[in-house]
Formats: sequence, structure tokens, C-alpha cells
Amino acid sequence: TSFEDVNLTELTRMNIALARYDKPTPVQKYAIPIVLARRDVMACAQTGSGKTAAFLVPILNQMFEAGPVKHVGSFNRRKQYPLGLVLAPTRELATQIYDEARKFAYRSRVRPCVVYGGSPIYEQIRELERGCHLLVATPGRLVDMLARGRVALDYCRHLVLDEADRMLDMGFEPQIRKIVECHTMPKTGERQTLMFSATFPKQIQVLAQDFLHKYVFLAV
Ligand code: AMP
Repeated sequence: TSFEDVNLTELTRMNIALARYDKPTPVQKYAIPIVLARRDVMACAQTGSGKTAAFLVPILNQMFEAGPVKHVGSFNRRKQYPLGLVLAPTRELATQIYDEARKFAYRSRVRPCVVYGGSPIYEQIRELERGCHLLVATPGRLVDMLARGRVALDYCRHLVLDEADRMLDMGFEPQIRKIVECHTMPKTGERQTLMFSATFPKQIQVLAQDFLHKYVFLAV
């Protein structure tokens, strides 16, 4: 198997080559075609499995195929409308996902941004104002950005919950529900939702029931 076996755009293939990924890992091999087919996914995958590229590559590829991201320039820069949102439990993980997103969005019109708590909010607001198509966020800081009217989710067509079990362990369920069930977020089935978790306890199954639409279950 190689990345050439799936139908990815020229730009995606170039960025995969620049990242020096020769061969997809198992989670990438199984998840990428399913995500490209616009299905929802519940994937049980550990850190180190290559799960980050398993969701970033097909989501960014869909954004590239959708063509120029027109709506953004016509809106006030003070409020950003990301097309995709990745929720992660910690600043460290959010930063890693953001770094990987920058690699795969290289030379595209898609601009990734990252926001997390414990760091000055004004610097992150200034970054958002430069444009944000893919937002990587920790739940608490995103709730704050939504409340300040700096981010709106009306155009969010791709939602990822990464390390969902860790987010629940850290007590983020109320914030996650506030974000996903906020009235401007496209409804389940109207957006694509992907959940990644190392474990699959009852609490995660309930979240999957509530947030995912006819999902494909993957265990790697
Ligand atoms: P993750 O599980 O997404 O945190 O990825 C673990 C590490 O493996 C990261 O440093 C990735 O950059 C790297 N990685 C992921 N997929 C591949 C691949 N197909 N080929 C080479 N390295 C990869």
C-alpha cells in the first residue's frame, strides 16, 4: 500500500512527499478513504499510530477540492468562520496537530490556527484575525473565543474530537457539549464528525451516539 492508492489531489500528494511519509500507517490506510467518502468515523487508535495525518490529510484534501475559500475575505476579520475544527485535550497535543496541519496545508489557501488556554489570548486573537480555515483548539479556550465572538461555527463542515477519552478524563465534557451542540454548529449529519480515542468506554460510546451520524467503527 502507498498513498498513491487513494484519490488525493496533487497538492496533498506533494505535501505528503515533503513530510517524507512514504507509506500510510494502518490507521491512515483504513481511515483516509472512509473520510474522503465523507463518512463519520469512530476510531480507536493510540498516540504514535499516525492518527493525526489520518484525519488531517483527508479533511484538508476535501478543503482543497472545494476550491478557493471564498467566504472568508468577505467577512469581518474580527470573527473567523473555520471550515474545520479539531478539539484536543492539551496545549501540547493541539500544537502537534497544528504543526502537522501546517505541513499538509503548505502552499494551499487553507490557513490553520491553534488556540489553547494558559497563554495570552490576545496573541491568539491576532493570529485568528489573519484568517482561519482549520482551527485546532482546546475546549476551554474555544468556549472563550466563541463567547467573545471571535470564532463562529456556522461553516464548520468537519469536526474532529482527538483523544476523546483524555478530554473526558480532564473534565471537558461540558465544554465539548457546549461547542458541538451550540446553535450555529451544523447539525450531526450536516457536518462530518470524526472521533479518535485510545479506549472505548461507555462515556465515549454515548458521545459517539450523540455526535456521529451512521458512523464507521475502526479499531487498529
Ligand atoms: P501521531 O500518532 O499522529 O501522533 O503520529 C506519530 C508520529 O509519526 C508523528 O511524528 C508523525 O509525524 C509520524 N508519522 C505519522 N504517519 C507517518 C507516516 N505515514 N510515515 C512516516 N511518519 C509518520
